[in-house]
Amino acid sequence: MNITRKWAATKQRAIEILIRLKRLYPEADCTLNYQTPVQLLVATILSAQCTDERVNQVTPELFRRFPDAQAIAHAEIEELEQLIRSTGFYRNKAKNIQGACRAIVEKHNHQVPKRMELLVELPGVARKTANVVLANAYGINQGVTVDTHVKRLSNRLGLTENTDPVKIERDLIRLLPQEDWENWSIRLIYHGRAVCTAKKPACDRCELADLCPAADLSLLSNVLG
Ligand code: SF4
Repeated sequence: MNITRKWAATKQRAIEILIRLKRLYPEADCTLNYQTPVQLLVATILSAQCTDERVNQVTPELFRRFPDAQAIAHAEIEELEQLIRSTGFYRNKAKNIQGACRAIVEKHNHQVPKRMELLVELPGVARKTANVVLANAYGINQGVTVDTHVKRLSNRLGLTENTDPVKIERDLIRLLPQEDWENWSIRLIYHGRAVCTAKKPACDRCELADLCPAADLSLLSNVLG
């Protein structure tokens, strides 16, 4: 197959996967709890190397004590550290959320910026966090969020051969409609948790198996009899 035809086939497969993911996971909401863009930014920074469930356990008290960028900017760092301790890497995260909030207050008039290039200048914010915030707080699909699940599944599904998240994002951007960039990531994360786990993908009950080059065919043939 020449490169153009191969690319067209991959794109068609990506669209079919997207359609099935929408059917399988009709709700594609961000699973972090927040009330404002600043709170979403903070929760997303906390979610690095941590589950959303754990983050949702610490943010009610964190946001009760420090509800906005101004309050976090002026908090005692030791108190911030204790409030977020159970999310791991708490010293670094406390420093980053306070640094980000100080920049938001001092440079951005208390508002989380709506532009990728300004967001990634904030401490603790890389493209992944910026994509989550832009899409969920502002409805701006500027990129595809690539976390560990999206990275693993995009590779298994043969939608990219890259391992670097920035390059994977670039490949997915070319394959998917822009309005679906963020909900793609959320749904792929659901699928990665429920079916295509890192340790043991359950190909025998995966609804994407016929579209997936990494499907374990021995499992499938067992199921098919
Ligand atoms: S068929 Fe297997 S490897 Fe492919 S997406 Fe499904 S669970 Fe993952």
